[in-house]
Amino acid sequence: MKYDRILIRYGEMTTKGRNRNLFVRRLKDNVAEKLQAFPNIKIEYMRDRMYVLLNGEPHEPIIDKLKTVFGIHSFSLAMKCNNELNEIKETALAAVQQLAHEGKTFKVSARRVDKQFPYGSNELNHEIGAHILRNTDRLTVNVHEPDINVRVEVRKDGTYVTCRDIPGPGGLPVGTSGKAMLMLSGGIDSPVAGYLAMKRGLEIEAVHFFSPPFTSERAKQKVVDLVKKLTMYGGTIKLHIVPFTEVQQTIYKHVPNEYSLISTRRAMLKITDALRQRHRALAIVTGESLGQVASQTLESMFVINDVTTTPILRPLVSMDKTEIIAIAKKIDTHDISILPYEDCCTIFTPRSPKTKPKKEKVVHYESFVDLQPLIEKAVANTETMVIDENFAAEDGFEQLF
Ligand code: ATP
Ligand code: MG
Repeated sequence: MKYDRILIRYGEMTTKGRNRNLFVRRLKDNVAEKLQAFPNIKIEYMRDRMYVLLNGEPHEPIIDKLKTVFGIHSFSLAMKCNNELNEIKETALAAVQQLAHEGKTFKVSARRVDKQFPYGSNELNHEIGAHILRNTDRLTVNVHEPDINVRVEVRKDGTYVTCRDIPGPGGLPVGTSGKAMLMLSGGIDSPVAGYLAMKRGLEIEAVHFFSPPFTSERAKQKVVDLVKKLTMYGGTIKLHIVPFTEVQQTIYKHVPNEYSLISTRRAMLKITDALRQRHRALAIVTGESLGQVASQTLESMFVINDVTTTPILRPLVSMDKTEIIAIAKKIDTHDISILPYEDCCTIFTPRSPKTKPKKEKVVHYESFVDLQPLIEKAVANTETMVIDENFAAEDGFEQLF
């Protein structure tokens, strides 16, 4: 007798009242997409839990995949049997035996959800516990701090036995909070911001500003690789590449040096907002962290933010760099981010950008140059790549050029 299914618990979303059906269905779709490579599995779902029926598929790689699906609170390997005492005892024993090397003490926690079942939970605990003790030689009972907690749940449709809870990534299922545009540079911060946005249930489309020939193909490849890492959590993600050279050069030429960075950021935000509207998203996500660099002081944010009323979400706003780096390492984007290819902003960044810019001044400087047509042109010439976990670089570049 072997584990034949994985039991998935939802956690936070069970508190979401009327939206729950929507959440559960979305989670089911996300799990199904994630497990595409296992054609024999079947997914059963209900209001409070989900089962992945293995049908002979191996459980280890499936467990690894489930660890990246937001909205899963925890999950466990499980066995199902009929509501019949002897069968339950045998199933519990088999479940423990498959894990016995993991610990030396156990307890049984039985729950009788089906009140028709003739044995109460205490009786079940004793019956099952005694059966396990009789048929194993290394195990003893410890009801306070057991190494293995044998959970037995007698429900109407059958009895489920699980022995170990594996923590899921938490959060909300991607897509249940709507869609946002992620401003994605090649740096450390913005991929982490994208990850955290998805964790709160947002679907993201990435926007990257690219300034050839000042930024190279390798810098772009870096961003493609970062998006590919994010697809591990978000499924398929669109990457919009904005040709930004002309806008940037024009700003550089006409706006005084100390204000050019602020003006560039405003142009980026305007373009992202136009793309947001075109792709029907409701927010913009950035990797900004308060006070980290000149353009991220509150004064700068105020002046940059002035070009739009669209909500700008900054998941990293209060984090220290070390905290951000720790997440970047965990999600495996860090090593890509630190590759030394130039970014469109580093090249044009003035030596001493203003840390306390004035809105009136930037508006005044920008009034001497008509950026709007260039901004519209950049939006019109933006190219889109669709990236999934299996994306190979060559696919996309053919599409782009
Ligand atoms: P990151 O590590 O994300 O690059 P950073 O600390 O380098 O952030 P900035 O360069 O000031 O900070 O950028 C702030 C935010 O602006 C970034 O987190 C990102 O959201 C956005 N951004 C910067 N450059 C680009 C770009 N080339 N394309 C798209 N978005 C960008
Ligand atoms: Mg950067």
